Amino acid sequence: MSDRDDSMGKVLVVDNDPKTLKVLEMRLRSEGYTIASAVDGKQALEVFDTANPDLVLVDVNMPGVSGLDVLAEIKLKIPEMPVVVMTAFSSEEVAVDAVRKGANDYVTKPFNSKEICQVVRENLERSRMLKNRGQLIQKLEASSTDLINKVKELEGYNRELINSMSAKSEILGDLETTNRKLRELYTRDGLTNLYNHAYFQERLSEEFSRCKRYNNVLSFVMIDIDNFKQINDNYGHLVGDEALKRVSNLLMESIRGIDIAARYGGEEFALILPQIGVKGAKQLAERLRHGVESSINNINNQPIKITISLGIATMPNPQIKTKKDLIKAADSALYKVKRNGKNGVLVSE
Ligand code: GH3
Ligand code: MG
Ligand code: MG
Repeated sequence: MSDRDDSMGKVLVVDNDPKTLKVLEMRLRSEGYTIASAVDGKQALEVFDTANPDLVLVDVNMPGVSGLDVLAEIKLKIPEMPVVVMTAFSSEEVAVDAVRKGANDYVTKPFNSKEICQVVRENLERSRMLKNRGQLIQKLEASSTDLINKVKELEGYNRELINSMSAKSEILGDLETTNRKLRELYTRDGLTNLYNHAYFQERLSEEFSRCKRYNNVLSFVMIDIDNFKQINDNYGHLVGDEALKRVSNLLMESIRGIDIAARYGGEEFALILPQIGVKGAKQLAERLRHGVESSINNINNQPIKITISLGIATMPNPQIKTKKDLIKAADSALYKVKRNGKNGVLVSE
């Protein structure tokens, strides 16, 4: 009753007239369709369930379960199933009624086989197109749902990213603050807030190398407070500390942003002055010397006179081959100032 080759489509043919049924079967089979058939409405519904046809061609005028009953039943089960009804003679009203009840098309008897084949072909084609369209819509809906879900997923990721980024930037901010504080701690001198000795050495190494590499000009100044021991001895260490701060502030106020002012040790200071030659360094040193002498004469309401001695070394200088040479040169110039009576400036030869 049912063959299985769906390449052309499977047609369920229902007619209570065995002769008509035979003719239809043969004609449609010759067209390449697979055929399932039934001789009454009851059998039609049974075959329909098992044969799973692509189109139903059913005679309306049958005893018992009529063609219209078959139509109604099938449309109830599978609304998109194409059903073509066959009506006797030219009773078009019956056909129109069938169409109103859900039939996709109709043919009137007596029919020629060509017409039947054309109607079957057209309805199968329409059905396939509708099925494909439905599948396409389903796919589109599925893919758009997929897309919406993906977009939502992406939004979720972005939110997470934004949250983690702001969290990160907060952490980074905290880390930067902490790092800055740490850097301050390990690069600055606690009493004077000048750069400490370790940082000074690091920076002098860098500046010295750069100076050597590019044959740049660089001045280095060693500063020592004169007779500082006496200040401590006469006025106490707190006054001594205050004197150190006052000198330090004056140094910081007098240099450029690219210069480095450091506390070299005890009451000794160092200045690294990139791109400053002998003349500029001497001017600055003299200004500092004069500044200390003229401005620091009262500490904690005590009449205290402070003076400083300064030794300068400038590069490029063929005598100065290492960083140590540079420090030594400035230091020996400073030593000469001390020997010459202090409160002065001298450039290393
Ligand atoms: P000179 O003119 O030759 O440089 O003599 P001076 O007395 O300045 O030099 P000296 O090296 O004899 O004495 C330096 C003193 O500086 C000794 C030390 O107690 C004092 N000193 C070093 N660091 C500090 C500090 O942080 N605070 C105070 N108050 N004094 C310090
Ligand atoms: Mg000293
Ligand atoms: Mg001193």
